[in-house]
Amino acid sequence: MRERQKRYIERLRTRLMAERGNKCERCGAGPEANPLEWAHVKPTALYGRGRGSAHRLLDVKNNPDHYKLFCVPCHKDHDEIGPPPENPNVLLEEEIPF
Ligand SMILES: [Zn+2]
Repeated sequence: MRERQKRYIERLRTRLMAERGNKCERCGAGPEANPLEWAHVKPTALYGRGRGSAHRLLDVKNNPDHYKLFCVPCHKDHDEIGPPPENPNVLLEEEIPF
């Protein structure tokens, strides 16, 4: 990538994160403990592409409502939201042969 583009992307990254207060939008943690990442909350054309790329930043800039700034643990939790995990105690009770 050319130097000018690189500088533009760095400035854009700084600006976009400053707009979200430089902290996780879920737990409020700053970037000290864990890096902050852009999490999809609504799909965009860029869904599933690599994180942290220049394309991703431009996508955040163009679709700010589709992204939230999360710390790494919150991003992981967010991505794992789905059907609740099976409760092993319930399964155990169902298996008791009365
Ligand atoms: Zn967080």
